[in-house]
Amino acid sequence: MDTSAPPARTAVLIVEDQRALSGMLGSMLRNQCGCDSVIAASLAQAQSALEAQGDSFLAAVCDVNLPDAPYGEAISLVERHGLPVIALTGSISPEVRELMHRGSIVDYVLKKGVVSYEYAVQLVRRLQRNRSLKVLVADDSPSSREVLQRMLQIQGLTVLLAENGADAIRQLEQHRDTKLVLVDYNMPKVDGFEFVLQARRMMGKDKLAIIGISGENRPDVSAQFLKHGANDFISKPYSYEEMTCRINQNLEMLELVESLHHLATRDSLTGLNNRRTFFDRGEALLRQARAAGHSAGVAMMDIDYFKRINDEHGHHQGDLVLQAVAQELGRHFSDELVARLGGEEFVVLFGRNLSESAMRQGLERFREALPGAVAQQCPTVGPVTISMGICCAGTASDASLSHLLHTADGWLYQAKTQGRNRLV
Ligand code: GH3
Ligand code: MG
Ligand code: MG
Repeated sequence: MDTSAPPARTAVLIVEDQRALSGMLGSMLRNQCGCDSVIAASLAQAQSALEAQGDSFLAAVCDVNLPDAPYGEAISLVERHGLPVIALTGSISPEVRELMHRGSIVDYVLKKGVVSYEYAVQLVRRLQRNRSLKVLVADDSPSSREVLQRMLQIQGLTVLLAENGADAIRQLEQHRDTKLVLVDYNMPKVDGFEFVLQARRMMGKDKLAIIGISGENRPDVSAQFLKHGANDFISKPYSYEEMTCRINQNLEMLELVESLHHLATRDSLTGLNNRRTFFDRGEALLRQARAAGHSAGVAMMDIDYFKRINDEHGHHQGDLVLQAVAQELGRHFSDELVARLGGEEFVVLFGRNLSESAMRQGLERFREALPGAVAQQCPTVGPVTISMGICCAGTASDASLSHLLHTADGWLYQAKTQGRNRLV
């Protein structure tokens, strides 16, 4: 076993002396975030938990006032262990404001019943997601960069830094998986507006959120940022609380767009491309192949005797078979366009200039592997076979996608009438 691997950091430490509250929060975290929690009812217990298993915690939810730690000492303790802290408090006292201002806590939660615990759960979920997210800070002032870096790191985000707009563009080119940019307006080389213009040419609003920042006393800066393509704007000086709210809101919006995009383009049962996406992307792929003088091919496939599987084992087992077939398709044709056209019909579009025999070999390997793969995933059902028809278009062909599909479908029909479990 690799003992140098970083710890998983999936559990939450709850430091709270009211048992009813910590118990409820623990079960909400389990149900809604899927994370274990360790409950400490005092500073002393928190200390032992951190010493024993500090590396396994993602974050701590920590009461500001405990019998043996009335002034937020437990929060300082957790902070010293480098964990993000969510503070639980009865009121927004000056101490809480100070903790927030110092950037010692991710956020605070008012102890006002279930609704506020929901908020704590949301914050933990945000921290879970943030662990895999990259944020770029572009600011020429080292002190501003440092302040933002610290705020973002408290939120569990991975931070990239750039000292001017040109540097920021380079970073974005290198880190295409960046989700958010915080960009200052006044920077040497490339300013904030110009950066936004260039960044938008690389990534749309569905992939990257940009928040403009400026301390300029000019009323038009915020509108100009938005008109250049930023999602949001915040003026200096800003509070940690406002900045984190805006960051979270922008990240949540991106996630919402992503999930809507997934719903619109994917088949909900198998996660494969749906019929519409197949035609949208397939037409484009075919055009590209034609322009490059490449050959292409379409394979239509249909599971054999699938109705019988439903009849004998029930619809749920049928669904599991569809998922297993989809998974095997994804494994075999990860470089091709694969989709579920409907029911138990699937399609693969080859657009990478493969020879006809290479396409056939790939399909035959898939056909032979499928029964074993399905039997392993769905032991109740056992082995399942598939019939396929392929239509290849040579480099000189100008056949349309629907013509290729129609022809492949004709060959699929032949495969069925010739006895199934074959490629025609
Ligand atoms: P053949 O070998 O000729 O293809 O026979 P078949 O039984 O596979 O074909 P048929 O077209 O007669 O039956 C397809 C069945 O697939 C009928 C339909 O109820 C079932 N089906 C379609 N979509 C789904 C689905 O999403 N889930 C499940 N479980 N069944 C589905
Ligand atoms: Mg069938
Ligand atoms: Mg069918």
